[in-house]
Amino acid sequence: MILLSACLIGQGCRYDGKSKVVDWVLELSNTGQTIAVCPEVLGGLTIPRLPCEINGDRIYNQSGADMTSAFVIGAEKTKEIAQIVGARVAIFKANSPSCGNCKVYNGNFEGVLVDGKGLAVKALEEIGIVVFNENEALEFKQSSLNHKS
Ligand code: SF4
Repeated sequence: MILLSACLIGQGCRYDGKSKVVDWVLELSNTGQTIAVCPEVLGGLTIPRLPCEINGDRIYNQSGADMTSAFVIGAEKTKEIAQIVGARVAIFKANSPSCGNCKVYNGNFEGVLVDGKGLAVKALEEIGIVVFNENEALEFKQSSLNHKS
């Protein structure tokens, strides 16, 4: 099974209530080999919600409220789902404080990306799941071929 960020296949679970559909991920979701999750909703955050960014080892919303515990719960629930369905790979939304696999915003709400990973990605990587983002279609397909060979 492949875990997907729910917003990539049309679920309006982003902070602004919108989705961010990516065609190749949507097509993949029609194969019956995927399961969609939204770590932030799993953690109890509402739709809509204020945007959040990682700052050190905490996560704050744009009003300065510490939202870390919801992100931790969401990451743990995402990991549990991955274990239950036997996922080995995930395709997650880039740059999110939950789903980003290599870059996140710098914590100052100024649109600047820095190296870093979202909490759900870190939780999945702890159990050996490989996480791609929606811009890594080639890398994902290459990895799928390697698994089949
Ligand atoms: Fe999409 Fe992940 Fe953010 Fe949920 S937490 S809206 S799945 S990027």
